[in-house]
Amino acid sequence: MKYNIPRGTFDILPKDSYKWQFVMDSFRKVASRFGYEEITTPIFEVAELFERSSGESSDVVQKEMYRFSDRKERTFALRPEGTAPVVRSYVENHLDVLSSRTKLFYIGPMFRYDRPQAGRYRQFYQYGIEFIGSDNPYYDAEVIAIEMLWLKELGLKNLRLELNSVGCATCAADYEAALREFFRPNLDKLCPDCAKRFDIKPRRLLDCKVPSCKPFRSGAPAQLDYLDAHCKEHFAKVCDTLTAMDIAYTINPSIVRGLDYYTNTAFEVIYDGLGAQNSLAGGGRYNGLIEQIGGKSIPAIGFAGGFERLLIALEQEGIQLGTRPVPDAYLICLGDKARAGIMPYLNALRQKDVYVDYDPDKSSLKALFKAADTSGARFALIVGDSELEAKQVNLKNLQTGEQVSLPLDGGEAVVQVLKS
Ligand SMILES: [Zn+2]
Ligand SMILES: [Zn+2]
Repeated sequence: MKYNIPRGTFDILPKDSYKWQFVMDSFRKVASRFGYEEITTPIFEVAELFERSSGESSDVVQKEMYRFSDRKERTFALRPEGTAPVVRSYVENHLDVLSSRTKLFYIGPMFRYDRPQAGRYRQFYQYGIEFIGSDNPYYDAEVIAIEMLWLKELGLKNLRLELNSVGCATCAADYEAALREFFRPNLDKLCPDCAKRFDIKPRRLLDCKVPSCKPFRSGAPAQLDYLDAHCKEHFAKVCDTLTAMDIAYTINPSIVRGLDYYTNTAFEVIYDGLGAQNSLAGGGRYNGLIEQIGGKSIPAIGFAGGFERLLIALEQEGIQLGTRPVPDAYLICLGDKARAGIMPYLNALRQKDVYVDYDPDKSSLKALFKAADTSGARFALIVGDSELEAKQVNLKNLQTGEQVSLPLDGGEAVVQVLKS
């Protein structure tokens, strides 16, 4: 029996692991600079959490969520996104009591039953930022700044920040009424999904992927024209703060966001050069979500991005993402006595944080030197029976061929050479 990986998933193999580590670590570092701390939640939650937060009618809940029942017939879901679990934890652990503002980030796998395609998987890795506790437009700009600064530091060019405001519950109602008026005359010509969303969530008609629906949306009213005074001012301040932070943006009225809990600022970070799947990250304000899932009414903003597309983009631009670790030294041990006697020394080196490779199955000098070369090690440590007796070890620089004799001590002599 031969087993295959489930469709739409992938293994991160050792030849790529260090790149993932590098990118994840760099995200952690940039987020910390803004005062954000890591939160890790389980990969499954009660399914209702996502039904309540994303909306029963959303694609995520309707078509994409992995649901399962446990032995006690409780319904869980593999998390399709990271915000609802973070907010669940925020409310459950009373983080609002500990501080008036909470700055969190997360990294981990998410799950959606979706058609797999380039850069899109059923298990995918996301990073995300959540700021909870203030409606100040500064924080909208701050979370955007984290993403933009990070991508810039990674070396990514050809980035675009697209910005929109989806308003609040008050102005969204006016806007949705205007949208219904606009679409009503053509309602019978739209696809069944659009017909279904017309009443519940008319703004979703703006991002329907069915080609025959597209012509009917040209000239549709834009949310920005329907913002009330508060939302208009909020959006203007976000724009001004971004400009003051030297972050360029374009306004894109068609950013609607798939989920129901977004209010005010919505944004997307686009990398040109990924084809149709060109969005690296997206997010926005979700002032209504915390109350919606059982907390107090507390404003918040956040975003999430995917590592898969980011890594494709970074590789396309030829950006080096760390280096695969190579041994500091390769131990070449000749003779039975030497092989038996060298163990304490090998152990001591590793305790001193030296990466030593050792292969007890190779015994010919030629094979051992070849292996040392292949390993990429800078040095070979050579010990035979007579060296062991004399308490000596030979350290050979594999690049220059230079060789020195060092005492077979507790590893100190070798560490001194390696660090110099
Ligand atoms: Zn409003
Ligand atoms: Zn449609």
